[in-house]
Amino acid sequence: MTNDIECVLYDEARIDRRVRELAREINLCYGGRPIIAVFVLKGSAFFASDLIRWLDMEVTMEFMSVSSYGMASVSSGRLTVKKDIDSDVRGRDVLIIEDIIDTGVTLTTLKGLFAERGARDIKVVTMLSKPSRRLVPFEADFTGFEVPDVFVVGYGLDYADRYRNLPYIAALKRSVYENEK
Ligand code: 5GP
Ligand code: MG
Repeated sequence: MTNDIECVLYDEARIDRRVRELAREINLCYGGRPIIAVFVLKGSAFFASDLIRWLDMEVTMEFMSVSSYGMASVSSGRLTVKKDIDSDVRGRDVLIIEDIIDTGVTLTTLKGLFAERGARDIKVVTMLSKPSRRLVPFEADFTGFEVPDVFVVGYGLDYADRYRNLPYIAALKRSVYENEK
């Protein structure tokens, strides 16, 4: 499996430090107000679990799995919810925890969905962002690392459901995904 790795971008120690810094920023921002933390599955599972254990407010853990239809879903607000959360978000502070923001389409649509459901406030924390790839302008409230336009795997991120369990974040060799097209 590690033969498929081009290079490690962020190792375990670096990730751990950044996760704690993000948690400090988030703690300051909410000033102790309780939140609903929405794990966007499956990619954010490790990041979200590592992050929320450093948060000092009351945290309700929720899991969601979605897929968007590209650009069409932004204008239509259409998003396939494959697994929905259990909590009612009306009047609540929602923190969406994402693995990576690429085109920005998924998060734009997902924020719209929680707004429609009556959340009081919706913020987004993402482990990674690829700003050069945006199709819609989208800025997370908290970002772990900005990455260039390379395909990354590990620490929850997959390619064809593989590599999620790597403890670091790495660039995948181009030959891996080009051979399988
Ligand atoms: P978007 O912002 O394009 O709507 O959606 C972002 C989603 O695309 C992420 O949640 C992730 O599933 C996938 N994605 C984008 N770039 C990468 C990448 O470099 N590696 C992996 N594993 N997934 C990616
Ligand atoms: Mg995702």
